[in-house]
Amino acid sequence: MQLSHYPAKLQPLQDNLFGEKAIQLSVLRLDELHPVVSGNKLFKLQLFLKQAVEENKTGVLTFGGPYSNHLVATAFAARENDLKSVGFVRGEQPAILSHTLEACDSYGMKLQFITRDDYAKKFEPGFLNDIFQSFPNHLVIPEGGYDPLGSQGAARIMDEIPAETTHICCAVGTATTVAGLLLGAKPNQKIVAFSALRGLSDFGDRVQYLTGLDYKDLNLELVNEYDFGGYAKKNQQLFDFMNQFYLQYQIPTDMIYTAKMMFGVMQRIRENFFPPGSKIVCVHTGGLQGNQSLPAGTLVFD
Ligand SMILES: *Cc1c(COP(=O)(O)O)cnc(C)c1O
Repeated sequence: MQLSHYPAKLQPLQDNLFGEKAIQLSVLRLDELHPVVSGNKLFKLQLFLKQAVEENKTGVLTFGGPYSNHLVATAFAARENDLKSVGFVRGEQPAILSHTLEACDSYGMKLQFITRDDYAKKFEPGFLNDIFQSFPNHLVIPEGGYDPLGSQGAARIMDEIPAETTHICCAVGTATTVAGLLLGAKPNQKIVAFSALRGLSDFGDRVQYLTGLDYKDLNLELVNEYDFGGYAKKNQQLFDFMNQFYLQYQIPTDMIYTAKMMFGVMQRIRENFFPPGSKIVCVHTGGLQGNQSLPAGTLVFD
């Protein structure tokens, strides 16, 4: 899969507020790379797939929950590379598959449901060995692509961001994407990481593991106060923001990551967090398929 075949658009946003604060703001529309697959996931998966092809693997194997953007992306990317894919899904097999798992299935992914207890063991070497036995010659991709190789793939997102950019904003789950942005950024470019999870106490260790760089040397700030109560938590204020943002800019956001990031960015602009002259790029990582689990009519877009 060649991501250069999917050029991403950089969309400038206009608002009186930005003029008042003397900042510029653009959104890198990685959400437009594919209607179902999150843009950042394709970048993170890129080098795993390259390795699987080079090593003549039969397929790839990975892990995720029933609404995992990473699972769908892996299913899609594997198929693009003529590889099989196996998805270990957390929890019992539901009577009706989530639309996410339906999409995985439509891309040919073999779904294996495992109990939450077994799922918790996914990083234990013994457990992985048992899996290797049942799926020989499959490359194992950690959940969320959480591996230095995932970040090296994500570093290529920086190729899409103009050199004069001063601040790059991105949502954080496993931190693999943000670590990639750090790998690709120049030292004077600040990465502002908006956590989609409550707390994220091990963020520094994660970034250090993923980049091999010392956390304290990095031009990075973690922003924690826009998680709306925690991972995948949502409320009417968030939906109202998503609708208003769409009506103003025609940019759909997802409720788990990108809506919370954009809400936080707007708030921080109002609070003068970005100095005058800042040229800000917000990375729209995609994830829109997740909105499909909302009741019809919640959002003004789909
Ligand atoms: C997975 C995902 C993220 C988080 O990426 P990490 O590399 O795990 O931090 C952000 N936004 C969207 C839309 C995602 O699907």
